[in-house]
Amino acid sequence: MHEVVSVDFVGGTTAVCDAVIRLRGEALTQELGRIIRDLLSSPVGRFVAGPGGVEPGQAGGNYGNALRHAVSAGTEQFGYYEVSGRDYCDGDYRQIEAIAKLTAHLMQMQALAQRSTHAYAQMELQLAHQSQILDQIHESVLTMDQMGYITSWNRGAEELFGYSALEAIGRNILFLYADEEEGFHDVFAEQGGRMMEVRRRKKSGEVFWASLSLSPLRDLAERPIGLIAYLTDITERKQAEERLHHLAYYDALTGLPNRTLFGRLVDQALMVAQRNEALGCVLFLDLNRFKRINDTLGRRIGDELLRQVAQRFRDTLRDEDVVARLSGDEFAVGLFDIRQHFEATTVAQKLQAVLDAPFYIGGQELRVGASIGISVYPQNGNDAETLLGLADIAMERAKKGEANPDRSVAFYSDDMNQGMQERMRIETGLRHALGNGELILYYQPKFEIGSGRIVGAEALVRWVHPQRGLVPPGEFIPLAESTGLIVQVGEWVLEQACAQAAVWQRAGLPPFRLAVNVSAREFTQSLPARVADTLARYALDPSWLELEITESTLMHDFERVTGIMDRLTALGVALSLDDFGTGYSSLSYLKRFPIHTLKIDRSFTTGIPGDQSDCAIAGTIISMARQLGLRVIAEGVETVDQLDFLRDSGCDEVQGYLYSKPLPAYDFERSLRDNWLLLS
Ligand code: C2E
Ligand code: MG
Ligand code: MG
Repeated sequence: MHEVVSVDFVGGTTAVCDAVIRLRGEALTQELGRIIRDLLSSPVGRFVAGPGGVEPGQAGGNYGNALRHAVSAGTEQFGYYEVSGRDYCDGDYRQIEAIAKLTAHLMQMQALAQRSTHAYAQMELQLAHQSQILDQIHESVLTMDQMGYITSWNRGAEELFGYSALEAIGRNILFLYADEEEGFHDVFAEQGGRMMEVRRRKKSGEVFWASLSLSPLRDLAERPIGLIAYLTDITERKQAEERLHHLAYYDALTGLPNRTLFGRLVDQALMVAQRNEALGCVLFLDLNRFKRINDTLGRRIGDELLRQVAQRFRDTLRDEDVVARLSGDEFAVGLFDIRQHFEATTVAQKLQAVLDAPFYIGGQELRVGASIGISVYPQNGNDAETLLGLADIAMERAKKGEANPDRSVAFYSDDMNQGMQERMRIETGLRHALGNGELILYYQPKFEIGSGRIVGAEALVRWVHPQRGLVPPGEFIPLAESTGLIVQVGEWVLEQACAQAAVWQRAGLPPFRLAVNVSAREFTQSLPARVADTLARYALDPSWLELEITESTLMHDFERVTGIMDRLTALGVALSLDDFGTGYSSLSYLKRFPIHTLKIDRSFTTGIPGDQSDCAIAGTIISMARQLGLRVIAEGVETVDQLDFLRDSGCDEVQGYLYSKPLPAYDFERSLRDNWLLLS
């Protein structure tokens, strides 16, 4: 017989689908029972949920007068169908089997769907929890991809930075960095996963300190896909730390470093000095009269006085100098940018001088001074503690030794003290000499070798010391250079030389060039104007004046030096290069300066004609000068042999004892007239 799928069967399957999807528990059991009864036209029929009902390993069959079939998929049995109350044939069995299979299949799918719906709901719940937790915690938590683009941003981050999640997500993390030079990749590569302290910028522009910890963000397959960053604002802690640091290392009253920090800074600087084989000096300053002011006028006045003293010290020193308040009225200074120890005396004197002006505090006029002791690295010690101790001892000695304690300065070493005293004596003497007319000029003639004519003269300064007589410049010019007094000396020499030349000009003497020595320190932008002004004041023709500059002057900034030289030669003043051969001027270098004459240094002239290398040097300078179109003069010519050699080598002029020593103006003028008469 041909089997036809009955309309009833189709309706039955639809009903099963509907029931399994919509119903649960007892309602489902009842409905499935009803469906199977209807479908198999059985007076009795039911669905029994749960395992059992059929032989193990069997799907179904006849049980007494009932027909049963398990509703099972794989190992899982959901229950069984059972119908009875009439006779059943094979067709009935196939129907109950088909419905049971369909039911099992549907139930399995339903269970699966239920499980995943459940899992999904669980996950959603978890996510909601997590973001709630993230938003609740005070820390700001954000995630970014491997390129640093922000992928999530919690409420803590919103509060900390001031950017909403909408504003932040999708931007690169770098927009929060406070220091431009800090790169994202560097941080990740070098510090990823570690805790660090970083500076970040808020939306308001405010920069703050944050502690940052980064941990890698991975996908389900454990591949790194970015970073999770946790940030907390630690600005307050940082500030507290800074306050603590300040308390530990700075003097609260003056804001200067304290003794501890001074020791550290000095020790650090000494390490550098050691590498550079440089010097260092420690100055110990003790205020005079402070205790009395403090005791009689009270601490408030005393404190303010110390503050102002500290300010004056700080203003006087350079940024690289270290100044500290040690205790009470004691201060210390560290100097490391000096070439010679006696330069510390100059600084010490400046520090004393800056206290000369009175302090006005609380309606009072107050005066304090300072006694200063100096110790020197490496001669006296190698560390801050030792140097400070020795400078203290030197200070005590200074205070006792000097009539005026406000001017007392002493080195720890005796020999340094003697050197200093000598220098100070010369320096005060020289200042005095400048004001008192104790300086005079001598004039040494320069002769043209070919004609024997006097073609010029060099003005050489002398100090007529009331006790010591004529002091040669070698004894005070170097000192004047190191103290800066050379500028005043130079001004006086130029003035005096021009005044004298103007006298000779008016007296109708044949014009010659009067050379004035100019030291490197005088060779400044203001020199050309000063020269022009002096020439004008004495109505002196510029062709009378020549400036001798030393090779060392050229070693400074090329542009600056040539600029000054050009302005001088534009005035009509000639320039000569003194002490030539002792420096390192190269030929090509020389060509670029507007120089008129080269002056061979006396040290080479002295060796002529005995010393071969001196002869070679002198000969080379002469031929070099000729090629460059410069005149050459040799200084320090004392013998006829020297003169002969120089003449044969092609030297233009000579200056030296062979012809004449430097002479006072009157004697020089007589020589000049004699020379002129003799040759005319
Ligand atoms: P300098 O410019 O090289 O001057 C030449 C020096 O050689 C002078 O010494 C001069 O007296 C000396 N002298 C000249 N002929 C002979 C000689 O035949 N034999 C010996 N043994 N010496 C001779 P002085 O006058 O002692 O000056 C020394 C240095 O002092 C000068 O060297 C110059 O560098 C400097 N100086 C002198 N006056 C001034 C000045 O007014 N300003 C500046 N900035 N420096 C000056
Ligand atoms: Mg000279
Ligand atoms: Mg010279």
